[in-house]
Amino acid sequence: LIQLYIPLNFLGVIYREIRQALTDIERMFGLMHQHREIADAPDAQTLPPGPAGVRFENVCFAYDAKRSILFDVAFDIPAGRTVAVVGHSGSGKSTLARLLYRFYDVQGGAIRVNGHDIRQLGQDSLRAAIGIVPQDTVLFNDTLFYNIQYGRPSARREEVEAVARAAQLEDFIRHLPDGYETRVGERGLKLSGGEKQRVAIARALLKNPAILIFDEATSALDSKTEKAIQAQIERAAKGRTALVIAHRLSTIMDADEIIVLDGGCIVERGRHGALLANGGAYAQMWMLQKQEEAGEPRSGASGDPS
Ligand code: ATP
Repeated sequence: LIQLYIPLNFLGVIYREIRQALTDIERMFGLMHQHREIADAPDAQTLPPGPAGVRFENVCFAYDAKRSILFDVAFDIPAGRTVAVVGHSGSGKSTLARLLYRFYDVQGGAIRVNGHDIRQLGQDSLRAAIGIVPQDTVLFNDTLFYNIQYGRPSARREEVEAVARAAQLEDFIRHLPDGYETRVGERGLKLSGGEKQRVAIARALLKNPAILIFDEATSALDSKTEKAIQAQIERAAKGRTALVIAHRLSTIMDADEIIVLDGGCIVERGRHGALLANGGAYAQMWMLQKQEEAGEPRSGASGDPS
């Protein structure tokens, strides 16, 4: 009986791990319990490794036929550049990320990576090229080491330590009683939002993707933490093609292009300085955020840009 128990127990562990990994991705995208029907094309191609430029080409999308979410959205993220998307809650920012990861197919237009329509790429090869730093990272009830190594389970110890350093986790880990072996997650040490985000960055760096999606947390942060996040985004995005879904405008001031979405349409685009000088939707969001930070009551009719 014991001979049977060991392999069955092992299979049980594997099954739980796979379930948890799927849950992680689904929670990242707010997709729990949704039915998806994306299949690889019969002649699906493999995306060759290397730098990757992303193009949204007149993308139209609806989760259900009665309500369109994106209208003719077009922008480029040249390889190695950072594009940030801002807009009010519900304007369609996270939907762009879900479409790039191909959780859904667009209904109009196309999304291209290095010229390939992503519907013609194998999902595995597309997703291998994309790393995600989600708003709220799911930590497994396991060691910190395991939680970082999860980005690439075959990574060696030195590689895990290198990305932990790059994500500025080293000091934090050094001060933990059990270091990398400290158990974290629901039944272990509870990490702060910022610490969890750094674990997510380390995981993403370990995967070493050509494309990075950074979904900034909506929660209010003090200005020191905000500065730290800005620096983190910049470091993680360096040399990669990055799509940053931003809620705090001060974290994306240096983006190569800022796209302002409103009701699923691009209403403004440009660099931070030019957008401020335009005095349009972006400038108004900026002013509102500054007022909020200063604790002043809101003026104007617009809501917050998250
Ligand atoms: P936030 O800043 O609040 O995260 P967002 O700009 O990222 O918002 P999205 O999550 O892209 O907005 O959602 C855009 C719209 O699509 C919203 O009106 C939302 O209710 C709707 N939506 C999102 N997911 C689904 C879904 N799975 N099925 C139907 N509608 C959805």
